[in-house]
Amino acid sequence: MSSDCLFCRIVNRELPTEFLYEDDDFVVFRDINPAAPVHVLLVPKKHIRSINDLQKEEGSIISGLFMLAKDMAKEQGVNESGYKLLFNVEKGGGQVIFHLHLHLIGGWKR
Ligand code: AMP
Ligand code: ZN
Repeated sequence: MSSDCLFCRIVNRELPTEFLYEDDDFVVFRDINPAAPVHVLLVPKKHIRSINDLQKEEGSIISGLFMLAKDMAKEQGVNESGYKLLFNVEKGGGQVIFHLHLHLIGGWKR
């Protein structure tokens, strides 16, 4: 937990954010500035700065994120129409919140 990290504060319910999903390891909430009709963020509760900082023993966090993404895509009704899964990594990769998260983006008209 990092007290100056926005997503740690959301995970710890210090900020009022509606969770679409929560378990012991992850939370899912809507992106505040959606890039598409469906844009949700899948966030491990553990504070990890970016993909660069992942340790080998944290591999289950990544597999867990992708398994959850598949389920959330179905829950959000975009599994058949299709979607993008995206990690932005560090500033040059567009990352602005330095707490690991996976973007699930979709819902465009076909
Ligand atoms: P990234 O650029 O990968 O670091 O993505 C950070 C994302 O977090 C951006 O798409 C922001 O719109 C989103 N975001 C920032 N603050 C909040 C917030 N309070 N609640 C939900 N999403 C947020
Ligand atoms: Zn954090």
